[in-house]
Amino acid sequence: MNIIFLGPPGAGKGTQAQFICAKLGIPQISTGDMLRSAIAEGTPTGLKAKAFMDAGQLVPDEVVIALVKERIAKPDAVHGYILDGFPRTVEQAKALETIAPIHVVINLAVEDEVLVKRISGRRCCPQCGTPHHVERLHGSNVCQVDGTCLVQREDDKPETVLSRLKVYHEKTAPLINYYQEKGLLKNINGDAGLEEISAQILETLEALK
Ligand code: AMP
Repeated sequence: MNIIFLGPPGAGKGTQAQFICAKLGIPQISTGDMLRSAIAEGTPTGLKAKAFMDAGQLVPDEVVIALVKERIAKPDAVHGYILDGFPRTVEQAKALETIAPIHVVINLAVEDEVLVKRISGRRCCPQCGTPHHVERLHGSNVCQVDGTCLVQREDDKPETVLSRLKVYHEKTAPLINYYQEKGLLKNINGDAGLEEISAQILETLEALK
């Protein structure tokens, strides 16, 4: 199954995608992670993307579309995948339709107030990408998966979070109606416990089989 995880920044797309992908044995395709790797490696894509990302703006459509096109052509994506953070504009959604069929769109809905709190407390592992929250780290600052020292993403700093939310409402939220009209949208309340959200997503996917 080819699945899209839609939702504002901080909705838990990455955390849930990681869990569900492990459960289903399909790859998680996160454009944010791919762009951060490209920046770390200093590739031409990374150089193009950096200023946009640091400012909390979207990277140009053609850059991310090319990344996704290349990624989903890899052999591990043949039995399906979760797109985490793509598409983020109607233009990207239209381009995706020419590349691959999408079977379901999981929309994780969370209020802005909750998102700001979540994002500002987020600390990520620079090695494996796993996100953590300061409230659950109990004073520790190392990744629970691989023990690497956690960092705060540049774009998770308070001054950038509000512009990311603004961009979400202007550019990405219209995709909710877009996929609703195509009959692909499944809404999940993203303001619940992690296990509860995972269970609801799995139940929703199970019902489609
Ligand atoms: P994320 O890790 O999904 O929160 O993405 C972090 C940042 O990467 C975003 O704020 C954008 O600057 C950029 N980005 C990730 N995915 C996309 C996308 N599909 N389209 C444009 N920019 C993206």
